[in-house]
Amino acid sequence: MNSIQQLYFQAILKQQELEKIKQEEQVQRQNQEISKQQLLLSFVSQPGLHAGDKQSWPLIDIQNRITQFYQQLVLRRETVIIRNQIEYHLPYFLNVLGNLIIHGLDSIKCEGNYIGILKSQFLNQPMGITMSNSLFKTLSLLLRSSLVQFDKDQIQDRRCVNMKYLYQFLLFRDDFCDIFYNSLFQYQISSHKQVSQQLSFYQLHQLVIKKSEDVWCTFIYKLLSQQQQQLTTDQFFVQFNHYTLLLNNFFKKPNLIFNVVENTVKQTAQFHNDAIFQEYLLIMGSFKATTQDFLKQATSIFFDENSSAIDLSEFIIKTKKIQNQLNSSILYILPMLLQLENQMIDMVQVNGKQEADPVKNSSNYYLKMIERLKNKCVYNGEENCNCKKCQCIRRNRNSANESQRKKREALEKIGPLQDAFEELRKKVRVVQNENENLRQLLINVFQHPQVSKLASTFIEPLTKIISDADSEFASYEC
Ligand SMILES: [Zn+2]
Repeated sequence: MNSIQQLYFQAILKQQELEKIKQEEQVQRQNQEISKQQLLLSFVSQPGLHAGDKQSWPLIDIQNRITQFYQQLVLRRETVIIRNQIEYHLPYFLNVLGNLIIHGLDSIKCEGNYIGILKSQFLNQPMGITMSNSLFKTLSLLLRSSLVQFDKDQIQDRRCVNMKYLYQFLLFRDDFCDIFYNSLFQYQISSHKQVSQQLSFYQLHQLVIKKSEDVWCTFIYKLLSQQQQQLTTDQFFVQFNHYTLLLNNFFKKPNLIFNVVENTVKQTAQFHNDAIFQEYLLIMGSFKATTQDFLKQATSIFFDENSSAIDLSEFIIKTKKIQNQLNSSILYILPMLLQLENQMIDMVQVNGKQEADPVKNSSNYYLKMIERLKNKCVYNGEENCNCKKCQCIRRNRNSANESQRKKREALEKIGPLQDAFEELRKKVRVVQNENENLRQLLINVFQHPQVSKLASTFIEPLTKIISDADSEFASYEC
């Protein structure tokens, strides 16, 4: 082995040694985390804390158990097979979430009949089901990892068909699940006097059915204010910017509706729904076109000189005012998309069982339009954006401005000349008139009998002078 090889091997060994140390450190850190969490958990579920109530477990403990159960499955990448146990008609995503939670209840062990009571509560009133942050996040992870399936025996039920699109649902996406949770959760105090953050099926359902505009407006207010009582100017700018970036990414990358459109172009018109594609296009177009206008309007209407913060009721009134003025619902784009995707999922479930109707395939049109809109940047050439599109728009704008400026300058130079020319023309006319009068006067004078004798000596040269002057002006005029 020559010295270079030796050095090389030494380096590799050293590298491996370092990697090993790093890994050990990481494992140690993880272990510390786990033991810390276990300590916390044991503290929370210490029986002593709820003396005399040993039979029933606080809701949050049960949720933590279910969370752990599903986290194990995610780690092992094991698919969960669920059965539909919910009789009530719910949007498909809530049906799946509900069945997952009930499946979780069935899978964890606990003394007493509290789980049984909870299960029958959930089955009787699915809108009352709530999720803790970690439970909701874990279920979202499970779904977007495509690890949930309905029992094959139940496949006759149309709810159990194809979950492909549900896995891509906005609510479960890595970039959006926190946003929805943080804007929607409410504090709940359990009978065990435990305070916890909970997201209920009722709130999610409200957002999707949208009985009134206020539901969406409140949701957006909570999103922008991060569930604070007041929304300050600074907070508004930071959060609105964040919101714009999120949606920009959403439209740029593949998403549920875009995938459906793309698939219907590739296949036959199976899940065909022009109304949904059209609305998606409208939402996307409105986002691309009016975001900057909205920001300008909102800055002056939400916050005036006297107030640097706004509360919910003011926010609702002013938002309606701005959106009416702009004729666009820019702030509602996120809940609109949630609603639209929910409709799409429910429709795919229905259509999945039906034979495809022979309808004209207009998906191509939507795909093209979406692709075209995709390339449009919301900043539309504003200075604060440095993307290629904006740079290009700015360049075009600058060169257009440049040629406009040149034209204007040229006109400005011509302007005074034109005025001088007009002045001259006026003068010419005046002089011509004066000449005419002079000629008439001379004729009159020479007609006088005394003067007429001298006429021949005067008239000729005079007429000549006058006609010379005339022709001079005439030539100037043309
Ligand atoms: Zn841009």
